[in-house]
Amino acid sequence: MKLHEYQARELLARYGIPVTGGGVAVTPAEARAIAEQIGGPVVVKAQVHVGGRGKAGGVKLAQTPAEAEQVAGQILGMNIKGLTVEKVLVAEAVSYEREIYLSAILDRGSKRITMIASAEGGVEIEEVAKTNPAAIIKISAHPTMGLLDFQARELAFRIGLRDGKQARQFAQIASALYRAFVENDASLAEINPLVVKADGSLLALDSKVLLDESALFRHPELAALRDPSADPEAERRAREADITYIKLDGNIGCMVNGAGLAMATMDVIKLSGGEPANFLDIGGGAGKEKVKAALQIILSDPNVKAVLFNIFGGITRVDEVARGILAALEEVPTDVPMVARLVGTNEEAGRALLAGSKLIPAATLAEGAQKAVAAARGEL
Ligand code: GDP
Ligand code: MN
Repeated sequence: MKLHEYQARELLARYGIPVTGGGVAVTPAEARAIAEQIGGPVVVKAQVHVGGRGKAGGVKLAQTPAEAEQVAGQILGMNIKGLTVEKVLVAEAVSYEREIYLSAILDRGSKRITMIASAEGGVEIEEVAKTNPAAIIKISAHPTMGLLDFQARELAFRIGLRDGKQARQFAQIASALYRAFVENDASLAEINPLVVKADGSLLALDSKVLLDESALFRHPELAALRDPSADPEAERRAREADITYIKLDGNIGCMVNGAGLAMATMDVIKLSGGEPANFLDIGGGAGKEKVKAALQIILSDPNVKAVLFNIFGGITRVDEVARGILAALEEVPTDVPMVARLVGTNEEAGRALLAGSKLIPAATLAEGAQKAVAAARGEL
């Protein structure tokens, strides 16, 4: 679950991480009132669940309350990467000399919570990873002892903070970020930029926190922060229908039952020269309604040029899935070509149901993937 920046910074502030003063506004007039309270230049920031808001025009400086009102009017209602801005954070604007990157993530490679720091903050870390990987410093915390003081200090030194007082403050912030990550069952806690002010002190200007959905039951106060209107429509519908859906960048939509089979399906699509548009697991025993919802979610992605159904009927009945596909196609007519590899329980009945439809049958996963790739290229 994603927190908004204004929620994330509040959480981090509770751990002693220094953040700027400010408040949330849903109207330009409210933005003005907050700017008046701050009594100096402010930064008005779109509160949407995507990164790169700055580049997209969702972060703007304002010198006066009147300007804050005007700028908030521009940002509220703006569409950033498919999401409508409904709230802005109005925060005290600060001037600074350097931008640092700092985060805590779960590194699946080392199986440890890992701190990432870089002297090249401000821009997206993926960009730094591409252009200057040596500028990214990673230190893994000990599984039981946590992030040790010497590790936090080492991070500071390796990103070039040599002044003793400054390195100490950085180490404190890194330790606090680590604790916030662990105690709230986060999957990411990120500060970008963490800025160095003219007096040498550090301040977090942008915070991002992702929480582990599976651990949310332990944190009802965090679960209550969920803002369903801020999630992409497809993610919200998937959650409501109890479908695991993760959007990817490719153009072949996948509907699969079982997480392992879904992973294998994406692998075989790539092996066949294609790119999956999503991970989607309808789960075991899915009925007609769920299949219908899943297909609607897949087709809501405009990048999807072909759909591959890979269903292994065990508890799930293939004829039930076929009925779901037909029902969905009746409600969402589409020209997107579809390939179906359906095997297992009641497969004959399922295939018979789909016989008159536009679905392209495939006997094996390899054949299904190849046909889906060809269909997405318009070659089928
Ligand atoms: P993001 O683009 O979604 O990561 O949003 P950020 O909050 O990181 O803002 C993008 C950029 O706006 C930052 O990297 C800063 O360069 C700039 N920015 C944000 N807050 C301030 C501020 O208080 N003062 C100044 N001068 N720049 C700021
Ligand atoms: Mn940022």
